[in-house]
Amino acid sequence: MNHTVYNFGAGPAMLPHAVLEQVQAELLDWHGRGISVMEMSHRGADYMRIVAEAEQDLRDLLQIPGNYKVLFLQGGATLQFAMVPMNLLRGHTRASYVQTGVWSEKAIAEAGRFATVEVAASNTDRQARVVPRQSEWRVSADTAYVHITGNETIGGLEFDFVPELGGIPLVSDASSHILSKPMDVSRFGLIYAGAQKNIGPAGLTLVIVREDLVGHAPAGTATMLDYAVHAQEGSMHNTPPTFAIYVAGLVFKWLNGLGGLDKIAEINARKAACLYAGIDDSGGFYTNAIEHRNRSRMNVPFTLHDAALDKAFLSAADTQGFLQLKGHRLLGGMRASIYNAMPEAGVRALVEFMRDFARRWG
Ligand code: PMP
Repeated sequence: MNHTVYNFGAGPAMLPHAVLEQVQAELLDWHGRGISVMEMSHRGADYMRIVAEAEQDLRDLLQIPGNYKVLFLQGGATLQFAMVPMNLLRGHTRASYVQTGVWSEKAIAEAGRFATVEVAASNTDRQARVVPRQSEWRVSADTAYVHITGNETIGGLEFDFVPELGGIPLVSDASSHILSKPMDVSRFGLIYAGAQKNIGPAGLTLVIVREDLVGHAPAGTATMLDYAVHAQEGSMHNTPPTFAIYVAGLVFKWLNGLGGLDKIAEINARKAACLYAGIDDSGGFYTNAIEHRNRSRMNVPFTLHDAALDKAFLSAADTQGFLQLKGHRLLGGMRASIYNAMPEAGVRALVEFMRDFARRWG
């Protein structure tokens, strides 16, 4: 790999270099078996061990309590926008959602196909720049669950608190910040995440769900959309995304080897502080308008003071090895995604590049 290349893509995102090297080393001949993991039976002893280790390593990382199921599914976080209401209504008609940006809005739209959606709180009156404090939320007592998007990947907005809901299950779309810091799983009813940011390759979707919330899909629910089926069959009702689970398992081992989620959280905090300081100290050349307490540690959108410079910025960045900095098409501007696999050196180099660019064009 060219170490001068840093990939700031939002997802599929960069993977730890050490993991890619291990994948490469094991690609043609996994542990002397003469075949690749891609070619193994998902029900064979070798692969069963790979899955069991991946699950155990994830359980260790997140300290997942014993009464939670870990499911390795497919269909992306987008399918969870439907599976959550399909499985979790439990006789209720209403489900509550906190609206914080594009991804929560997609979750809301899909849930509306299955439930009466109550928007418990919204930040649309504040240009999506802040996560509404829980004191503002209005949650009906008869709601089935409350859904949040723990980190809005496009807006660059991250929850700075875990809501307290009494007995109402809390559901979080953690696609773009899972494993970036410790998380008290016991405060959630269900957590889901597409893999392609902090977990591994695209094609795998992770669901962590409290046992008592499994088994409530109404009659007529498709087999593959029922959490109970996947829970009972150890995510092996059909062929799982075997290679993606294997790579995710290596990522979990990499994180454990690094010192776990406390350690990665420290590193991520330093990376985010470095990049936001680079933006805030640019004398207005760069701007990020998110309320400080909700600035995402994973996705950092920013604009240049003059959008006419965007093209020159992106082209200079690309030439110097800073890839995929173009902002999401809905927002424009720039976005630097700095997930777990992004080394601190990459963020420091980006900030230096941004400083140089501002000096040249300011
Ligand atoms: N939720 C969030 C927060 C996301 O960032 C994304 C993907 N960028 C999705 C959901 C959709 O995920 P997928 O493409 O895996 O369906």
